[in-house]
Amino acid sequence: MPEGPEIRRAADKIAAVLENEVIEDLFLGLGRLKKFRRTLMGTRVRSIETRGKALLTHFNTDWTLYSHNQLYGVWHVVDRGQYPTTKRTLRVALHTARHSALLYSASDIWVLTNKQLTTHPFLSRIGPDILDTSLTWRALLSRLTDPRFKRRKLATLYLDQQFLAGIGNYLRSEIIHDAGLDPTLRPIDLNRVQLGRLARSTLTISKRSYTSGGITNKAGIAKKLKSQGKSRAAYRFAIFDREGECCYRCGGSVIRSTLNSRRLYSCAQCQTSLFETQSG
Ligand SMILES: [Zn+2]
Repeated sequence: MPEGPEIRRAADKIAAVLENEVIEDLFLGLGRLKKFRRTLMGTRVRSIETRGKALLTHFNTDWTLYSHNQLYGVWHVVDRGQYPTTKRTLRVALHTARHSALLYSASDIWVLTNKQLTTHPFLSRIGPDILDTSLTWRALLSRLTDPRFKRRKLATLYLDQQFLAGIGNYLRSEIIHDAGLDPTLRPIDLNRVQLGRLARSTLTISKRSYTSGGITNKAGIAKKLKSQGKSRAAYRFAIFDREGECCYRCGGSVIRSTLNSRRLYSCAQCQTSLFETQSG
């Protein structure tokens, strides 16, 4: 399932063809949305925004098209009218003079006013987006110590979109490993230095994934492994999906565990446990 960085990269492709362009024609496949065809026809796209796994197409009017891909939705960006061969159901088509942005299969699609956006059930619940450039490590630090979050294990907290939007399974393992912390620790177990490191790792790893096309491993390590002829699967992650292999940081063995039926990877040697936290 795509996580924040993958959603943002898909949004960049859509933004490249839609932003500042006039919607010359459009199709809204869901019956409840058909009445909005006239509302959006001829409007200009102001910007494309992502919030966690939701994509917002803002028009230069009071309207925004909200879409959430859930598990199965997929966007295609094509030259105008060049529909891909697919058995999927077309849900949204936005046509400019030269291009088409096509959304298939998704059903969580809404056309909302700016006011309705602020009360949308998903958007009003989620935390800040991990790729929001105005999000600082200090803001994250205060979020970690917020009473709503500080007593929850990092492993569960880091999948909660109300804590931070856009983190999924691979980012969870990669961030907690980068911060050098045992995933069963809670923010309240950590000292100020560890909290600061975790806040910084959260931003660094998320941003790295976005700019590198999904590689969260340190650039130097990934480059070296690539030059040795290793596959992308081998150099992409520092810890995720590497059960039984050597930790790139300390040489320890990568452990796989399962939490709420989702895979979690860690290294017992370089991720500080509760015992070490209290004795150190
Ligand atoms: Zn290690």
